[in-house]
Amino acid sequence: MKKFNVPFGYRSSLISTIKNKRKQNDKYKKDFTPSLLNFGQVQIYLARHFGFCYGVENAIEISFRTVEENPGKKIYLLSEMIHNPLVNDDLKKRGVQFLMDTKGNEAIPFSALSAGDIVIIPAFGTTLEIEEQLKNIGIEIEKYDTTCPFVEKVWNRAEAIAKNKYSIVVHGKPQHEETRATFSHSAVNSPTVVVTDMNETIELAKFIKGEKPAKDFYVEFAGRFSEGFNVEEDLQRIGVVNQTTMLASDTQAIADYLKNVMIEKYNLTEDNIEERFADTRDTLCYATYENQSAVYGLLNTEADLAVVVGGYNSSNTSHLVELCEEKFPTYFIKSADEILSSKEIRHYNLHKHTLSDTISFLPEKKPVKILLTSGASCPDAVVEAVIKKLVSFFKGSKSMEEVMKEFV
Ligand code: SF4
Repeated sequence: MKKFNVPFGYRSSLISTIKNKRKQNDKYKKDFTPSLLNFGQVQIYLARHFGFCYGVENAIEISFRTVEENPGKKIYLLSEMIHNPLVNDDLKKRGVQFLMDTKGNEAIPFSALSAGDIVIIPAFGTTLEIEEQLKNIGIEIEKYDTTCPFVEKVWNRAEAIAKNKYSIVVHGKPQHEETRATFSHSAVNSPTVVVTDMNETIELAKFIKGEKPAKDFYVEFAGRFSEGFNVEEDLQRIGVVNQTTMLASDTQAIADYLKNVMIEKYNLTEDNIEERFADTRDTLCYATYENQSAVYGLLNTEADLAVVVGGYNSSNTSHLVELCEEKFPTYFIKSADEILSSKEIRHYNLHKHTLSDTISFLPEKKPVKILLTSGASCPDAVVEAVIKKLVSFFKGSKSMEEVMKEFV
């Protein structure tokens, strides 16, 4: 995998040492068991895979290099470059301005831009409409486009499906930058509709099966279907692609469900299902797969609690939280500062979209066993700070040097 030039402050020598050792011992990434950092009274189980992915490192390298190479120029990001507050704040401090919020609401009007300005397209990519607007102003978008190749892979797959006359069902969060971009790139080639989850997929299937009047589709899926979508014709041949950071098992369940709906509706079998349903199994991003698999590895461990570190609007991180919540008390924090003391932690409740303070989050028993992972947009340095903060609450713990001996 290509090595990127990421600001030193985001790296962690501690985490890099552990990751390098694991890489040496497991070149083909077959082993998803966590790494144990055994400090004695506290034992931290670190997920096998976590932290910056290819697309995030690529976007960070391009963005910081652009700032360095263009002193005095106006530099904008379309919206947050990645969903991590530390990285976005660092760019703001260097003078980068954000044109939109994460939902696409305007923060700075495009009319304020001129041809000589630089606009960086984030890792999620953007819509064809926005690309067109920027080109019309005279802005060179190709030079500062950090769209992740794994997102582009989904667009290419959608295009290939469209060429074979399938409509596209996008499994994603309709307001997320990546899903808006994927919708736009798909809709130009084929009728497209977005579903967020299985419940919406079941409702969509009722239109496929003719169990609901077609007119209801335009109300239920308002804002989430492409222009001119004909619900009676455009749901007869379909394929599913996803926002790359959705829960892999959810996308698979949605695809399997729709496939079965088509089999029943058109009396098909596995041998001729392609007449109505395109096989799109390969649109998952590698980092999503690895990070989620590593959390399944964590869940096989006996532990007292789980801590997941990342931006609160990060889709991939929120799915790691959901997985951990199935088995453990789970605390979703954006940095070590959220661990207020040995007694109290401030964490994000992604179901209520609120911050909560939990008292006595660490059990009295010893050793305390903590599962730890982070999202694909979280710097390793933040995870290291979390480890150090947690360990500091356990007097008489082994030193970091001692614990790290087995990884050196
Ligand atoms: S999570 Fe996957 S698709 Fe998203 S930026 Fe990272 S590598 Fe690219």
